Amino acid sequence: MSAERRRPLIAANWKMNLLKADAAEYCRDLRRGLAAPPEVDARVVIFPSFPLIPVVARELVDSEVEVGGQDLHPEERGAHTGDVSAPQLADAGCAWVLCGHSERRQNHGESDEWVGLKVAAAARHRQLTPLICVGETGLERKEGRTLEVLERQLLAALAGGPGPFALAYEPVWAIGTGETATPEIAQEAHRYLRQRMVEELGEVAAAVAPILYGGSVTPDNAAGLIAQPDIDGFLVGGASLDPQKFLAIIRCSG
Ligand code: PEP
Repeated sequence: MSAERRRPLIAANWKMNLLKADAAEYCRDLRRGLAAPPEVDARVVIFPSFPLIPVVARELVDSEVEVGGQDLHPEERGAHTGDVSAPQLADAGCAWVLCGHSERRQNHGESDEWVGLKVAAAARHRQLTPLICVGETGLERKEGRTLEVLERQLLAALAGGPGPFALAYEPVWAIGTGETATPEIAQEAHRYLRQRMVEELGEVAAAVAPILYGGSVTPDNAAGLIAQPDIDGFLVGGASLDPQKFLAIIRCSG
């Protein structure tokens, strides 16, 4: 299936940035920008850090922009200090949740299996769509292991039999480094992920799952990437902190 048949999905990962007042102002700028012509045909999601979710959900109410959590715990409740659950995210106004971001895998030692449990928890809750992040490190790419790593992460993430989901291909060497994957490198990984999804889930389920690219996306490189047939949108970190840059990325995608 070609990218023309999937609506672009553009997501902002704010990571551990912004305070309440900045977040509110950002959402107002974003709404103003999206309301200005020409009309944008893209799904837009903001992933703020947990304390900002209520502000963002309030500022974006009655808009088409959705909100997501940056992480979740696989269990619904209990003694897990510092964690949040799927019901808590949904209750706070989230429709999405990031699962397996490389900063969680690297900085918090999250295994492929743990990511799979999170994806299954989001799917069980139904109101939350997981955005599953996969990607190889620079060393794994140098050693020619990119596709092997992507396959391992993908299969573990889908092991719990997810409902609807989106995937983000985020090469670790491109995250926050300014070194974006070329459109050709990204397309090769996306095409591979699409094929493996077809093999695992069948044509229909694989065709509806968007595959986003993430890794130093900016207004300058977004157009070349989104032109690739298997790139359905972006997960944007650094550039998403500036609403005008994020809007420019949305505009060249939708
Ligand atoms: C990310 O953290 O998901 C990301 C893609 O970050 P950046 O755009 O800053 O590389």
